[in-house]
Amino acid sequence: MSRAVVMQLDAVGQPLRRVERDVTMPGPGEVLLRVAACGVCRTDLHVVDGEVMASLPIVPGHEVVGRVICVGDGVTGVAVGERVGVPWLGATCGVCSYCRAGQENLCDKPVFTGATRDGGYATHITAVARFCLPIPERFSDVEAAPLLCAGLIGYRSLVMAGEGHAIGLYGFGAAAHIVAQVARWQGRSVFAFTRPGDGEGQAFALHLGCSWAGGSDQMPPEPLDAAIIFAADGALVPAALKALRKGGRVVCAGIHMSDIPGFPYADLWEERSIRSVANLTRADGLAFLDLAARVPIRTITTCLPLDQANEALAHLRTGALHGAAVLLPPS
Ligand SMILES: [Zn+2]
Ligand SMILES: [Zn+2]
Repeated sequence: MSRAVVMQLDAVGQPLRRVERDVTMPGPGEVLLRVAACGVCRTDLHVVDGEVMASLPIVPGHEVVGRVICVGDGVTGVAVGERVGVPWLGATCGVCSYCRAGQENLCDKPVFTGATRDGGYATHITAVARFCLPIPERFSDVEAAPLLCAGLIGYRSLVMAGEGHAIGLYGFGAAAHIVAQVARWQGRSVFAFTRPGDGEGQAFALHLGCSWAGGSDQMPPEPLDAAIIFAADGALVPAALKALRKGGRVVCAGIHMSDIPGFPYADLWEERSIRSVANLTRADGLAFLDLAARVPIRTITTCLPLDQANEALAHLRTGALHGAAVLLPPS
């Protein structure tokens, strides 16, 4: 078996380090994949910054598209040569009250790809076969990668936002650029909020069919039925509340956010609500990937070689990228 190359986080706040090591063989119920592409998600930044708990050292990356090159004992339904996706939810306990109630996203003993189990900033990855997702044929490896978290979490957030027509998206990065396309396809109006003064980001949002784009310090031209916050800035929660109609919802889609400042109760009153979205279920994955192929979603990506993972994270931090960054391992 050949050697693997991974980009590994040894300690919080440090750059990822290129490590060459033996390929790990799949255990029972696992598959070994040759990674074809891995998306770069904001959660990876939170892992590097220590804002999301990880088991160090860790290889980040949870938008992994790869081909199965070896299957472990007891694996059914996945065969050598197949292309699959490995998302954030790497495994669950299957027995806790949440797992039994169909809320595996809230499992008490979850395994998270790229945080508590090595992820896809690598040439090879092992994954629990039952948590791998099929990738619709119409998407290339690169196109599919951002669907696996940005798309999936965005989709779950959009479902939580309800059936309303006017949807606001705060933070117009990888997730919003996918959700905007789904919401437009569903016949809704999308209002995009970027960092104040980000004319390029606003033009990008309008190009994707948003009805309006402005700074997060601006009010939309009409009250929103729901707002989804993808940016990690807690100050956006009261800002988004102010933009809602009566009975409207704010959905916080991120895994980490800065503290939410105080705000007048009057802004929440009239049955407005705030909720968060955590992780994903396999059912979300199957539903979203099927939908993504039917829309079809067009992901806008910037590819970098695997050994430039630190540069990709730096671009994400400064908001220099429109769409999603995708890492490509050497072939
Ligand atoms: Zn569980
Ligand atoms: Zn993610």
